[in-house]
This record gives sequence, structure tokens and C-alpha cells, in this order.
Amino acid sequence: MSDAAMTAFRELLGPDHVLTGDAALQRYRWDTTPDHPRIAAALRPATVEQVQDIVRIANAQRVHLYPISTGNNWGYGSAQPASDDAVILDLGRMNGILEVDTELAYAVVEPGVTQRQLYQHLQAHKIPLRLSPTGAGPDCSILGNALERGFGIGPNGDHFLTQCGMEVVLPSGELLRTGFGHYEGARATYVYKWGVGPYLDGLFTQSNYGIVTKMGVWLTPDPERFEACYFMCNSDEQLGPVIDAVRRLLSTGVFQGPINLLHRNRVLIMLDRYPWTEMNGRTPLDESVAAKLAAEKRVGIWNGVGALCGSREQVRAAKQTIKRVLKGKVDRLTFLSERQLGALRLAPGLWSAVLRMNVRELLQTLEASFGMMNGIPSEVALKLAYWRHKEPPPTGAPLNPARDRCGLMWFAPIIPMTSDHVSTFRQIVEPIFAAHRFETCITLTAVNERCFDCTLPLLYDQTDAEEAQRARACYAELVEACKRHGYVAYRLGLQSMEKETGRDDVFWDVVTRLKNALDPGGILAPGRYAR
Ligand code: ADP
Repeated sequence: MSDAAMTAFRELLGPDHVLTGDAALQRYRWDTTPDHPRIAAALRPATVEQVQDIVRIANAQRVHLYPISTGNNWGYGSAQPASDDAVILDLGRMNGILEVDTELAYAVVEPGVTQRQLYQHLQAHKIPLRLSPTGAGPDCSILGNALERGFGIGPNGDHFLTQCGMEVVLPSGELLRTGFGHYEGARATYVYKWGVGPYLDGLFTQSNYGIVTKMGVWLTPDPERFEACYFMCNSDEQLGPVIDAVRRLLSTGVFQGPINLLHRNRVLIMLDRYPWTEMNGRTPLDESVAAKLAAEKRVGIWNGVGALCGSREQVRAAKQTIKRVLKGKVDRLTFLSERQLGALRLAPGLWSAVLRMNVRELLQTLEASFGMMNGIPSEVALKLAYWRHKEPPPTGAPLNPARDRCGLMWFAPIIPMTSDHVSTFRQIVEPIFAAHRFETCITLTAVNERCFDCTLPLLYDQTDAEEAQRARACYAELVEACKRHGYVAYRLGLQSMEKETGRDDVFWDVVTRLKNALDPGGILAPGRYAR
């Protein structure tokens, strides 16, 4: 970056908010993927006007900006830009919860607002609304996940569907308000997604067309009754019938929000780290060791989890329907209410004997997964990043797999919700993971009644160069093999961005044409979805 640009940014933000040098930039370089682009500096604006001025300076001085909200984006590149020598635009100081409408159940948030912050705000003000947390942990932003079109658990789990109304700083420095937001005094900006005229919000997700500085998010009113539903299958053959049952239950609205079907391996990686001693340092995990661990922890080969909420009558009826539809298809079906969880908490020893499982050990995970479906952000799913790590996560600080140099790359293709598709998909991916000596840890997240978002973590030891190289090769093979069969990821990370968006394809060509129209100077996040 030129001296003139640096001077202009320092004058605008004050020297404390223009970061340069290795120590100050270290946090932005933390990442769980093997790619590490060069970062020129980081800017920390506090207002939308400062963001507009930054963009104007960037145009004049030919600086590339890479906006982040909290910059975690685990397994997809974290805060790292998609090109070398960009300046990180860290929006974390803009962390205002600008409005919460209790009656209409929405919040308006700035980019730096985290899941923890929104949750604590709702609690502190006794606002009877809930958010849908992601598995990424309490310190991730609300806005970043919606912009990546990510998914959470519990009701309102599709975060782009529940986004409503944006304020965007364009690469020109102009301020765009989407939906009805650009009409003076508009009343319905945060309650009706589509506005009038072409729908523009989608353009600012998974793209590099603008910097989003404000967003409306729909929340869920506290239900009269909430219960979690857990089910388990002991044999792989049960998966097909369970998939048909899940599709039926979702299409009739029995469950609210995504249902997750977790393979045994996926549960094991959330509970513990790799059993290095038992495996004598060898990888991947032997089937016999995996089966033994699963038996100890009472984990099925497939494990289902979903949320039920509504009136007492609705939840009662939903439970009856679930029992009927899953009858004969699963080996265990349990519903858990707050009251039952309280009983387990009070007498774990007694319940361990009654349920023939180690309730004390399970309670922590159960509480966290129950809480997540109930709108309480947790680190329960993030722990998986430490699976192949040689050290346990540090205690007493929030988990940060990027800081701790864990190796994680997410691959998340969308699979139509039939047993045939899931079976074909597994036949493609499982041998590839095995050939590269990694475990296949599938979760099938039923994000609607027609498809699964299959989240596959590729977990490796980032400190082991040979294993990191294998992980990279494995990832590339997975992407290509799945694409050949028509299964494509819903989201890209640094590990696949360039390859995917560089295709000779009318779609990516139109994406580039839009980029050129909105950002002729090419200042905003070059290489992020658009060139
Ligand atoms: P989180 O920390 O919540 O996982 P990030 O802040 O890392 O999310 O955001 C995910 C990705 O979305 C980032 O890599 C960035 O490219 C993009 N992004 C995040 N916030 C904004 C924003 N306010 N405007 C435009 N793009 C953004």
C-alpha cells in the first residue's frame, strides 16, 4: 500500500485503527486452511461514513479492501482475503444492536454483532425472542453467516431466508438500502424481504459487490413449549427409510428448522480428540476402534436431532406423529424437555442406571445441543476442529481453532433428499477420504424438505506438512469427483474459490460482468466469488 493511502487512512481513522506489522496483523492470518495470502494492513472503522470514506480513498489510491464482520469463517479461510496484499476492512467495531422489535420478532444489527451478544441482549432485556445459532460458536457474527448463506440449528435456521433489509456501501462509496429501505420513512423494510422491483439482496451474499453495514434478521418468538427430539439407528441399512421419514416429517411441518442426521464419526469428533495412543499414532481411525468408542458413548451409526416447538397441543401432536412415522425405523427415540433436562442435572447417577448410559458425561453435550436448538449459542460443534490436533484446546478461553492452528476445511455439497442420492454420494466421498487416510464425518442437515446440506469437515493436523498436503489433495479430489456426479458445494472457501469461480461458464461470466459494472476499479475483495 502506498504511503499516501496509509496517511489518508490514518487521518480518517486515527493511527490506532490502522494496523500494520506482523504482531498487529497476526490475528487476521490465523486460519485452519492451508492457504495463507499476504495481508497489507487492517482498518477498523467505527461508522458507516468512515466506511464510505475508506472506499473513496481505496478507489483513488488503488487499494484492495477485504471486508469481514468477525472474521472467523472457520474452515473457509477465516479473515484471510481471497487475493494477496489486500487490506482487511475489519467491521468488528461496528457492533450495535440497533433495534429489536419484540412484536414483529426481528432485530437490526451491525456487522460486528456476535451470536453471544445478541443472545445476551435478549436475555438482559427479557425479550421473548430467540436466534438460531450456528455451530461456529458464540463469537461469530450474525451478519457474516447470513452473507455466506449459512445455516443454523432450530427454527429460522436458513440464515439468508431470515435476512430482511440491508444497508450496503457500494464500491463507489454510495449507500444502497435494499427492499423498501430506500423509500423515505418506509415502514416495512424489516418485515417484507422482496421490496419492489428487482430483488437485490442476494447480490450482496457470496459476492464482492458491496460492504454490508446493517441488516435486519428475523427471530423466533419464544414458543409456549419446546422439546428436542433425538433418535438413533444402530445399522447403516436404516438410513434410507429414515431419510424418507425425515422428508415426510419436514414436508408436513412437524419439525421446526433443520433436522440433522449425524454419522457416528461426526458425533465422535465432537466428543473427543483422535485416540492417538490407542491407534499407535496411525491414521485413519480403525473401524473397530470407532465402533468401540461409539459403544462406550452410546452413539448410534446414525443419530438424528431436531427441534419441536409451538403450543402444548402442537408439540404433543408432533411427538405422536414422529413416533408413528419413525416406528420400526430407529432403535431409540427420545424427547427431551427443559423439565426432564433439569431432572438429569439433579440426579445424573440415578439416571445413568435407569437409562444404561453415562448421563454425567453426556450431560454437557446434551445441554449444549438442547440449548442450541433453543437459541443459546455454544461451542459444542466447534470442538470438532481439534480432532486431529495433538494438543487439547486451551482451557479458560473461547475456542479458536484458527489461533490454535487446527486443520479444518469444510466441504458442503447439497444433496437431493432421497436415499439413492445419499447412497451415491457416500459411495463417491467415503473411498476418497479413506484413500487419503482421513475419516468421513457426515452430517446431513435437512435445510428444507427437498435437500440436505451435507457438511463434511476435512480435519487434519496443520502442524504436520505431509498431512496438510494430503488434506489439500483429498479436498481437490472430493470437489472434482462430486461435481462430476452433479453434487456441488453451496459455499466456497479459500481452498476452492479460485478454481470454481475461474470456470469458463456463462454463469461466472455474468458474475464478472456485474462486478465490473458495480466495481470498475476492482477495489473490493478481488477473487472472492467474482474476479
Ligand atoms: P464469521 O466471523 O461470522 O464467521 P466473517 O466475518 O468471517 O463471518 O464473514 C464471512 C465472509 O463474509 C467474510 O470472509 C467476508 O468475505 C464476507 N463478509 C463478512 N462481513 C461482510 C460485510 N459486512 N460486507 C461484505 N462482506 C462481508
